[in-house]
Amino acid sequence: MTHLLEVAGVSKAFGGNQVLSSVSFNVVKGEILGLLGPNGSGKSTLLNTISGFTRPDGGSITFNGRPIARMASHRIIQTGIARTFQLPVMPEKMSVMEVVMAAGTRQHGLINGLLGLASGRKAEQEDKARASELLDTLLLTKVKDLPAAALSGGQKKLLGIACALMGNPALLMLDEPMAGVHPQLRQELVETLVRLSQQGISLLVIEHDMHFINTLCQRCIVLDRGQIVASCRPDELAENQQVLDAYLGR
Ligand code: ADP
Ligand code: MG
Repeated sequence: MTHLLEVAGVSKAFGGNQVLSSVSFNVVKGEILGLLGPNGSGKSTLLNTISGFTRPDGGSITFNGRPIARMASHRIIQTGIARTFQLPVMPEKMSVMEVVMAAGTRQHGLINGLLGLASGRKAEQEDKARASELLDTLLLTKVKDLPAAALSGGQKKLLGIACALMGNPALLMLDEPMAGVHPQLRQELVETLVRLSQQGISLLVIEHDMHFINTLCQRCIVLDRGQIVASCRPDELAENQQVLDAYLGR
């Protein structure tokens, strides 16, 4: 079993609030791992820590054998980790297509593009083709020319996924992808994520929707007040006493 991501003993406090306490878990290459836990248990903070938006106080994070806990977030993205946000915020004046293109802007492509070099134009064309393909996959083609800020909450989540995929990540981390997504789109979103997984992308997914977790995840980890209290298959959750305690309180 190859570990793509290894999180070992990660802790984080905000002021006197110990939000993560020595969190350890792995993501196996190719798996879809669910991250569960009640509100405030530290799930988003854990994602922020892995993606470099928050620096851990202690512990190590290793991706593809490389230590990343002290890396800047833009460097972490370059190693192949992408993420979406629980509440995506979109720029006011950019169209949906422009937002996806901006997410994919390759530095060499940008500079060559500014200089009018052929390789820059080629990179831009490739990005455009990739962006169109992703908008299609995420059912956003019909709104591609609308301002991104005008999309529904659910469509913004889909757009966040399209942006994350522009960098061709090996690991995609999703923060509550189903919340706010129209019920008719949910099944399509599940199918899209399964397809991504089949293409070899590993997924770490925060989600409360149990149907989603049961359909998609091979394994789940459960956070309770900043500690991992369970690691099991989705069908084992309901009979796990620590999971029940986490959700029902003690
Ligand atoms: P979850 O995603 O599981 O609902 P969060 O990780 O968002 O939980 O939050 C866990 C705790 O960390 C909460 O008590 C929250 O107030 C606190 N927290 C999260 N981010 C910050 C921050 N940037 N500054 C201070 N406290 C924070
Ligand atoms: Mg959260």
